[in-house]
Amino acid sequence: MTAPNKKSKHPAVGIDLGTTYSVIARLDELGRPQTLNNAEGDKITPSVLLFEDGNVVVGKEAAKAAATDADNVAECAKRDLGNQFYHRQIGGRRYPPESLQAWILNKLRVDATRQIGAFSKAVVTVPAYFDEVRRKATMDAGYIAGLEVMDIINEPTAAAVAFGFQQGYMNPDRPDDQRKKILVYDLGGGTFDVTVMEIGGRNFNALATDGDVMLGGKDWDQRLVDFVAEEFIRKFGLDPREEPNSHGRLWRDCEDAKRTLSARAKAQIACDFRGQALRVEVSRSQFHDMTKDLLDRTSFTTRQTLQAAGLEWPDIDRVLLCGGSSRMPAVVEMLRDLSGKEPDCSISPDEAVAHGAALHAGILLAHYDGVSPSFHVRNVNSHSLGVVAMDARTRRPRTAVLIPRNTPLPVVARRVFKTQRVGQKSILVQIVEGESASPDDCSQLGKCSVRDLPAELPAQTPIEVRFRYEENGRLTVTVKVEGTDKALKHEMSRENSLSSEELDSWRKYISGLDPIAPPPPANLSGEAIQLAAGAKAADDALDYAPESEGPPADPNAGTVKRRWV
Ligand code: ADP
Ligand code: MG
Repeated sequence: MTAPNKKSKHPAVGIDLGTTYSVIARLDELGRPQTLNNAEGDKITPSVLLFEDGNVVVGKEAAKAAATDADNVAECAKRDLGNQFYHRQIGGRRYPPESLQAWILNKLRVDATRQIGAFSKAVVTVPAYFDEVRRKATMDAGYIAGLEVMDIINEPTAAAVAFGFQQGYMNPDRPDDQRKKILVYDLGGGTFDVTVMEIGGRNFNALATDGDVMLGGKDWDQRLVDFVAEEFIRKFGLDPREEPNSHGRLWRDCEDAKRTLSARAKAQIACDFRGQALRVEVSRSQFHDMTKDLLDRTSFTTRQTLQAAGLEWPDIDRVLLCGGSSRMPAVVEMLRDLSGKEPDCSISPDEAVAHGAALHAGILLAHYDGVSPSFHVRNVNSHSLGVVAMDARTRRPRTAVLIPRNTPLPVVARRVFKTQRVGQKSILVQIVEGESASPDDCSQLGKCSVRDLPAELPAQTPIEVRFRYEENGRLTVTVKVEGTDKALKHEMSRENSLSSEELDSWRKYISGLDPIAPPPPANLSGEAIQLAAGAKAADDALDYAPESEGPPADPNAGTVKRRWV
């Protein structure tokens, strides 16, 4: 990698890698964000891939092929990040979701290169509610696509930064004392995020964040698809969802009808399958009724986030809308009723996130060049982080939180545990993320073990576990046996992530930056990697030490995740 050079050697590039649409932007000579068109001349690129004759086509043409060649089309891979493989085989092959995301990023990079020249440094955005595993997978996708991901930032934060820029907050002549609290409601195609931020003195501080990575415009489409399919079954006894291509066509027409319903009171949806044809009319109020529960979920999460920030609606200065699905009139009405304020639709729901990412990239590049930043962003973690410990009374494992959710980042936290037995030889530290006291309901991030403890170590010897959590969501764990020089420090390993050899192999294949490489062998696709430091199931767990209850748990750490995911 080249060392950071003097000014404007690198363009400031930001990428919104969306579940359904992706956008790339850069800062122009005057430091203003500007969306870069793709090779088809569009500002937004469908996050869809078509595998055809050994080639991968990304974007509009791939999206069209969902109606004719559905088996060879992959979409919504972002929803599968964190899993070992995309949920379905394509052309008889399983792909890690990182590789599919990388093809999308690669198209954005190659198309942008035609306009601004070669570049590799970029900021990529993720939903605020993404956990550590999905953040790491996003960074890996960037690497595979030939990018150097300088940072990943949260999408609602990026939208708020774009809003702040538009409102003149980054202007150095502006007085520092104006503080505004804004609530960002971001409803995209596949994910929902809500974040409460405070903007003031050129600082962007997230106060609380929540969301749902399995809720977005796709779910609204699904309701229309099911509605039409059920009408079709009633009339002809046939289900158009059975066959992938007719399902793809129906989906496309329903998404189109959904957009129509944002502008008109009714829409027509045509469906033909096996020689039978049907035309269904849907009114806006019917559509509202069939999707009300989805909207209610966003409303519930919005209220919870406000509460987690310790605020009430009169404290909020703006309700900022973002994401393509926020164009639905029902969203605007719901937020107007809930907040008693007129929602702010002044930022482009499609471009704001990429613009915020480009502004953040500009700050990082300026920082590399020794220029002091014109604004600063501070985030919170979206999930509690802790370890599994044995409850001394029940002898059952429970989650011991080290960093409660909504803690400002970066943060270092420590908590003391105890060994279980006299002469214990090893300890197993299992790291988990989530809000439940039961480790089984949390996401397992990784394990490490401390071996060869000093002989005859008494039972209940204090063991200190220390977490360092960076702003971009990377975690370092240190385990120290008190009274000894025994300490183990390492970056966590993850069971479903690609090894560095696999990443390099995919990078050569997808980015085309290195000499043309063959596709990685099929078995080189996200094999589980070794647990760090050789942890074994036989290692002893930590004992929960009652006298070190750790930091207080977030009283508002809601039931959202357990309820809906
Ligand atoms: P993501 O970032 O998750 O890919 P976007 O913010 O790009 O999502 O939003 C895409 C979603 O917005 C899609 O589900 C699309 O159908 C929906 N959408 C776009 N325009 C409209 C509209 N006018 N009315 C309703 N939904 C819309
Ligand atoms: Mg988005």
